[in-house]
Amino acid sequence: MFFAATLAAQTPKSPTAPQPDDRFKADVLLIVAHPDDETGVSAYLAQLLDQHKRVAAVYLTHGEAGHNNMGPERAISLGAVREMELRHAMTKLGVDNIWFLDGRDTPSQDVLQSLANWHNGTALEEVVRMVRLTRPEVIVTWLPAVFIGENHGDHQASGVLATEAFDMAGDPSVFPAQLAAPVRVNETLLEGLRPWQPKKIYYYSDAQEQDQFKNTGPQYAVTGISPMRKLPYWRIAMDEFEFHLTQYRSYIEGLQKMDEQQLAKEGWSDPVQLTFGKSNVGGSVTGDVFEGITPGGIAFVPPVAEAPERPAGLSIELAGPWGFYETFRRTHGLQHLPKAAVPEIAIAAGSTLQIPLLLRNNTASSKEVTLSVTAPEGWATQGGVGSYTLRAGDQMPVLVSVDSPKTVEKGVEEIVCAAQADGQSFGTVKLHVRRRSGGLPQN
Ligand SMILES: [Zn+2]
Repeated sequence: MFFAATLAAQTPKSPTAPQPDDRFKADVLLIVAHPDDETGVSAYLAQLLDQHKRVAAVYLTHGEAGHNNMGPERAISLGAVREMELRHAMTKLGVDNIWFLDGRDTPSQDVLQSLANWHNGTALEEVVRMVRLTRPEVIVTWLPAVFIGENHGDHQASGVLATEAFDMAGDPSVFPAQLAAPVRVNETLLEGLRPWQPKKIYYYSDAQEQDQFKNTGPQYAVTGISPMRKLPYWRIAMDEFEFHLTQYRSYIEGLQKMDEQQLAKEGWSDPVQLTFGKSNVGGSVTGDVFEGITPGGIAFVPPVAEAPERPAGLSIELAGPWGFYETFRRTHGLQHLPKAAVPEIAIAAGSTLQIPLLLRNNTASSKEVTLSVTAPEGWATQGGVGSYTLRAGDQMPVLVSVDSPKTVEKGVEEIVCAAQADGQSFGTVKLHVRRRSGGLPQN
């Protein structure tokens, strides 16, 4: 008896799989571009924290572009300062798990320039890694679309990469070195992660006109009182925001002198509006973010892509970021995402508007195409108009540039590009433009 018992005790137990590090498991992963980008949703994040949800955040850049209201530090040094402002702000909010990736702040409205400056594929690999590491139920990110507003290309790019990561992180064939088991004691290449399919993705936007997003997703009032902190959620968001001093010192000092009514006028008590992206677990468009979500992983869900459209005959279309988003929405099954009824953009009054176009000739013969621009009084076409020869089956990118009047214009103006061949019009492209003072350059 004694001998048998000793043997049993010495038989090694069969090993169990090591589990992913639970300290970094997130319910919601915020994927954004710059320190302060959380401001649009921080009052909602505070509500999630009260519900004992785990929130983590990924910042694609350090936000090193722009002014410094606190000292002479600029560029990379300013980024180092802004990282710390953000960490202090998020600690105040109650979020500790924050990662900064290696993207450079790219101050323009052109998502394609941001993606290029971030070394698109490298940034995507990093975001996929963060999704696999944090295993979020829900991703919240910037809306990838072009709108009159801040329309930051970096914001859009973070939304593009977050969407791609949502569709790729669960796919075991994507970035396989992240998933491979380590083979050395001091492993430096193979990462030992597991595929992870997030359940839902939601967006928010920096567009000037926020009403257009009503009913595109859930809306969260921020005037309720946090049972944990005994403060209204909008006040918790403002307290978090007040760490971003390099960006907003004088504005923050102004806020500190305002009463509640004045603060409400500043928009601090506006509800948080989300836009529903997609769900792999059901739930309704305007229902709660966690509707349909139950604990535990789900299987990889390949995105349902719509086939790209190949226009017949002769065609003209808006290219650049606008053209990219047409393809992007189809590839990721996001055709329902809000977009401007007529493509739009804001530019600084007096600057040059650039209209990227793509001409296609899907006929059987070579065609002479004439491009013309119609713009309101005061605008002056600089380049791009004229005649182009397109061989059968060919396509040609054309950049139309139009100088804008120097005065600010509150309303939108319509610029129309028209294309003709064989004496007949075959297509037009319209763009709505607002002339403002300052703002980010178009590209
Ligand atoms: Zn930003």
